[in-house]
Amino acid sequence: MTDKEEQKIEFKAEVSKVLDIVIHSLYSNNEIFLRELISNASDACDKLRYALLIHPDLSKEASAFKITLTPDAKADTLTVTDNGIGMDKDDLINHLGTIARSGSAEFIKSLTGDKQKDMALIGQFGVGFYAAFMVADSVTVKTRKAGTDTGYVWTSAGADSFTITEGEKLPVGTSVILHLKPEAKEYLEPIRLRHLVRQYSDHIALPIILKEGNKEETINSASALWTRKKTDITPEQYKDFYQSVSHAFDDPWLTLHYKAEGVIDYTALLFVPTKPPFNLFQPDRKSGIQLYVNKVFISDDIPDLMPFYLRFVTGVIDTNDLPLNVSREMLQKTPVMSKIKKGIVKHLLTELKKRAEDKADYQKFWDSFGIVFKEGLYEPIDERDEVAELCRFHISTTDELISFADYVGLMKQNQENIYYLSGADLATLKTNPQLEGFSARGIPVLLLTDPIDEFWVQTFTEYKGKKIVSVMHAKNDLEKIKPESEPTGDKLEKADELTKRIKEILGDKINAVQVTDRLTKSPMALITPEGQMSLHLERLMKANGQQIAYASDRIVEINPRHPLIHKLAEMVSRKESPDKVADAVWVLYDQALIAEGENIADPAAFAERLGNFVLSGL
Ligand code: ADP
Repeated sequence: MTDKEEQKIEFKAEVSKVLDIVIHSLYSNNEIFLRELISNASDACDKLRYALLIHPDLSKEASAFKITLTPDAKADTLTVTDNGIGMDKDDLINHLGTIARSGSAEFIKSLTGDKQKDMALIGQFGVGFYAAFMVADSVTVKTRKAGTDTGYVWTSAGADSFTITEGEKLPVGTSVILHLKPEAKEYLEPIRLRHLVRQYSDHIALPIILKEGNKEETINSASALWTRKKTDITPEQYKDFYQSVSHAFDDPWLTLHYKAEGVIDYTALLFVPTKPPFNLFQPDRKSGIQLYVNKVFISDDIPDLMPFYLRFVTGVIDTNDLPLNVSREMLQKTPVMSKIKKGIVKHLLTELKKRAEDKADYQKFWDSFGIVFKEGLYEPIDERDEVAELCRFHISTTDELISFADYVGLMKQNQENIYYLSGADLATLKTNPQLEGFSARGIPVLLLTDPIDEFWVQTFTEYKGKKIVSVMHAKNDLEKIKPESEPTGDKLEKADELTKRIKEILGDKINAVQVTDRLTKSPMALITPEGQMSLHLERLMKANGQQIAYASDRIVEINPRHPLIHKLAEMVSRKESPDKVADAVWVLYDQALIAEGENIADPAAFAERLGNFVLSGL
């Protein structure tokens, strides 16, 4: 088959899936198709502008960049034309025949099969070019790539295939021709188009032209939003811009717009979203920041422009202090970038500090991004102390989120350390026996439930001279602080015989048995020694399929005031019913495992022993 003939190509299965939903469900917000196509057109112009810097010979084909909208009421078509980079045959097959963008791939993963529900997901993920099929029965793309001679015509009615033919004498750039569905005729009306462009695409830095017959009219402001004065920009315009640069559908929680003048001049327009984007934890995720040099788009994938713990920040940085043809290597080396990075981090943290004064407002931020922000306690950064001030935590003594500074204010007399307990969720942490001695003394304990918590506690070990210590390693600290009410029950004075016996019974399941002050209600608990992995971290690593080279030692702790412990000590010293003692020790041990969130080795044996005790009690 030669290139001149029409070639029919099947869409990849994922594309057909997306198209099926896009075409058949009535999405009330279908007007976003225009924003997606204009955004693609603008990207294509940016790409050609950048290519010209590297291959100046392409310039004979380039003209002043613009995007043209041509409604044709006779043909029932709306055409979106750009004079950008264009596509060759491979581009058409690869970009318009597969799912390239991660948003669409993620969209497919979350499909439920219920069309109405799935359609609503489009709002969350965006489907880029395919949004055209919300309003069009069929779509024709005429395009020629800069630097090539052959143009191509791509046509599809959605369904499961598209065709490609060679096109005659096409100009460089791309025209997307939408054959509008009967119910989408509103997109032929100039008023509607003007309105949509103003709403969604006003900030696009190229002229967007509405062409009616011979009449051409520029219908956007065509000035990059960030170059305008703050006082000339409405909250709506900021929001629309945020949604467009971030491919987002929520409101920005924080909008930060400033011009830095000094050693390095740059303008920053940055946003913190309200909702976390779906791909926050994907390792290959691009940064959400676009870099411009003197209003010319350079890249939206600048390595290391933002520290990792601020990777949810999106927006635009524009500077005149870099050459237009700046290369990736240069971006990685130049001190200009590291100075800009320092500047934006400082501004962002200052702004977060201001917003933290309103607790309810700040909690919204923390709920969405705290889990990422806390990575700043772990990353090797200069501003770790500032980051620490902005972190919030759940604690054992109130329901409010608190800061380290709040914690210090809540510390008891003679309390030297900041204590924490980590585990899978708040509910199990709150009932963990390890907290008992602390609760009895009114000592607050940070309750840490995010995986990252296990890591930062190893690097951020001190806040303003106060050590951050696991409750399991509180050692004798509790002795120095009086309980709020006197502990009930006598303290078992001689426990040696009992601890020795428990060790014999549990054998190599554990490494040691010791008496603790930390338990007030439970008879027994399980810990790991200081400097070794916590049980929670071991579980996390196993769940992640990671190998654990050395399992931590397990230490059984007993409560010397608990009547059960007294009774066992008595029985051991009198050598009374050793089998019953062994059964009781196993039950207590299994209960300690359960309280810690561990699995018990032999649930059937546990149930049987417990059943026997219950029966003899009745
Ligand atoms: P995204 O724009 O997020 O990558 P789309 O589905 O909107 O996803 O587009 C897929 C790809 O098709 C784009 O990345 C681009 O390579 C190509 N493309 C779409 N529209 C155009 C256009 N007007 N000019 C050149 N390439 C385009």
